[in-house]
Amino acid sequence: MRYVSTKGSGPVDARTAVLQGLPSDNGLFVPEAIPKLPDGQIKEILQSNLSDIAYQVTHPYLSGEISDTELRKICAEAFNFPLELVNLEENLSVLELFHGPTLAFKDFGARFMARVMGFFVRNEEEDLHILVATSGDTGGAVGNGFHGVEGIRVTIVFPENKISKRQQAQITSLGGNVQAVAVQGTFDDCQKLVKEAFLDAQLKELRLSSANSINISRLIPQSIYYFAANAMLSGEDPLYVVPSGNLGNISAGVMALKMGLPIHQFIAALNANDTFERYLQSDHYEARPSVPTLANAMDVGNPSNIQRLMYWLSSDISNYISATHYNDEEILRGLKNSLQKYEYNMCPHTAIGYLAAMESKVHLDKPHVILSTAHPSKFSEELPEIPYTFELPQRLHEQISKVQHYERVGNHYQDFKDYLLS
Ligand SMILES: *Cc1c(COP(=O)(O)O)cnc(C)c1O
Repeated sequence: MRYVSTKGSGPVDARTAVLQGLPSDNGLFVPEAIPKLPDGQIKEILQSNLSDIAYQVTHPYLSGEISDTELRKICAEAFNFPLELVNLEENLSVLELFHGPTLAFKDFGARFMARVMGFFVRNEEEDLHILVATSGDTGGAVGNGFHGVEGIRVTIVFPENKISKRQQAQITSLGGNVQAVAVQGTFDDCQKLVKEAFLDAQLKELRLSSANSINISRLIPQSIYYFAANAMLSGEDPLYVVPSGNLGNISAGVMALKMGLPIHQFIAALNANDTFERYLQSDHYEARPSVPTLANAMDVGNPSNIQRLMYWLSSDISNYISATHYNDEEILRGLKNSLQKYEYNMCPHTAIGYLAAMESKVHLDKPHVILSTAHPSKFSEELPEIPYTFELPQRLHEQISKVQHYERVGNHYQDFKDYLLS
């Protein structure tokens, strides 16, 4: 498969698209054509287990550049955790995507991307050095994804005392090829330092690279859980309700649909950052600065993957996707309601999906599947008013009790640079 930019440049091979991350014309990489699978193959995929589904779905995107044996190995290693579909009531279920090492769906994208990048640099003498700034969640998933991958070193840059204790534990307890550095400043300071390092000619020999959230190799593997969910459901085509921020998750759903997976429709469930909903209503795109909400992993005012959705669906977009948003008060109501009604614990992002599904279900008699993007324990410390009843997952327990290693630097570029060169 070759890849082109949404703004027209290309084509390039998969290796270039993955290692370069972004095309130089400011667009985003997309496959030259999304592969439409024959009905027979879709039927076969829907009978398979997760690692096999992963192989069949990702194969057309990478064949020719990664051997079948190697791709099978990558899939088996990346998706070594379960996926669960929990039924709440008729026509309403939750697809739990948070059973990976960092308890969030981002593990699907990060673990696959890390292994694909590792494969593409396997014959190079010098390690590739991934530099990533995080406001909390991404650092954990990327660090975990690359942990133990040969040929790649990772430095995670986080703002000291500005991320939760649990998030910090996930980032600083890895060790090995994953280092953490705490900046005395804000997330914006971290991003600035990282950007400056990428532009610094004196750091060329460090072979710095980014593991950007819009890398196409993070999107491709996210299609697989839509196939896996269809496989677990029976009957009518489902409607997927996707808690959305940067719109990566829902873009992967659209890829699954274009590959031929039977899907009735998508609902993008948003928090107060409703840029995408306003776009669907007015056909006019207007980004806004993000506002903080309880579902903070979705606080995105200018969602980058909208470019891909426009490219794939253009003026038909509202036939496939609708959008709706909820404020913090409604999120709290949704969290309490799901506990009362089903004794089901959810994270604030999932609660937005729950609210959207309940509203849609009233007038649409179809199976609604809510994608649950994170385990509630990642956010429960900040939500003391919710009477959660879950037990702390074992792996979070382990991560919290491990020794933490990190360096501290000031927010001056020279300090950061000295750290990188040391
Ligand atoms: C990243 C994230 C989202 C948003 O996903 P997008 O692909 O950016 O739309 C939703 N929930 C959680 C918990 C996340 O970490």
